[in-house]
Amino acid sequence: MTPRLIIVIPCYNEQEVLPITAPQFLAKLKELSAAGQITEDSRVMFVDDGSKDATWDIITKLSEQDEHYIGIAQSRNRGHQNAVLAGLMEAKDMCDITISIDCDGQDDINAMDGMVAAYHEGCEIVYGVRSKRDTDTFFKRFTAESFYKLMNSMGAEVVFNHADYRLISSRALQELAKFKEVNIFLRGMVPLVGFKSTSVYYERSERAAGKSHYPFRKMMALALDGITSLSIKPIKMIIALGIIVAVISFIGIIWAVVEAILGRTVSGWASTTCIICFLSGVQLISVGVIGEYIGKIYMEVKQRPRYIISERTWEKKK
Ligand code: UDP
Ligand code: MG
Repeated sequence: MTPRLIIVIPCYNEQEVLPITAPQFLAKLKELSAAGQITEDSRVMFVDDGSKDATWDIITKLSEQDEHYIGIAQSRNRGHQNAVLAGLMEAKDMCDITISIDCDGQDDINAMDGMVAAYHEGCEIVYGVRSKRDTDTFFKRFTAESFYKLMNSMGAEVVFNHADYRLISSRALQELAKFKEVNIFLRGMVPLVGFKSTSVYYERSERAAGKSHYPFRKMMALALDGITSLSIKPIKMIIALGIIVAVISFIGIIWAVVEAILGRTVSGWASTTCIICFLSGVQLISVGVIGEYIGKIYMEVKQRPRYIISERTWEKKK
């Protein structure tokens, strides 16, 4: 069966770039439907993320010009992740597959061919992965790549060099909808949904117009959000730190006692040092233990689904 595709595009203050890239998305949609890969009634959906410029006017005009363009607007700016999620959730009951992509033309729309082809081969999720970052400055490339490494080392599994350009089937989206958390980091959550997935590679180019909304400061905030919303590893590290401090303290205590016995100290120094060493170890371990429970509570309050079924013998595959 030919799938109906909705391309989901978050837009925030993008009046310069939308008139350039919107026709490109539409052309791609028409090309894919002409090739019989997707249905003719597929759509390009813009999600206005509370823009302060003419973005929403442009979107409404586009939707009047061509029925293939549709748009939704968030009541206020909520950030890129929430805008993408809003679009995906809106689209999930209207189509068979979605592709989320930025509206600035940085992600190569031709990678969609490979994504749709992978879907036809049975993949439910297809990640768009940047093969090169030649057009990014050294600083952007270095910080962005460190971002992925930091995330992974802190226990938040993300696909290296994959941003939010990906195909997700509506079936996988129905499962993603069961993730009830409010702090969302899609790059970490989508892999948790599972199902058959693959990656397609593309080259990332420069912005068609306008400027980035993700300076270093916002990227760090996103990394911190990603780590703390997906992993409780930082809490676990407190316990490890506590144990290390306790061991060092133990050595410190022996040293203080030996110094005192040898009479090389003023009176009271050894006892004070022992107490400080002992208590700092105990305190850090205690904080870590409490943290372990808070971590468990944190994971519980997310109310994530406990299992996701991918196949049933009595249900026919698509
Ligand atoms: N965006 C959004 N809400 C925001 C910030 C950005 O919807 O608060 C959109 C923006 O319009 C673009 C995408 O998210 O389509 C990526 O933003 P940008 O290109 O500025 O980030 P970069 O590619 O530099 O990381
Ligand atoms: Mg961009």
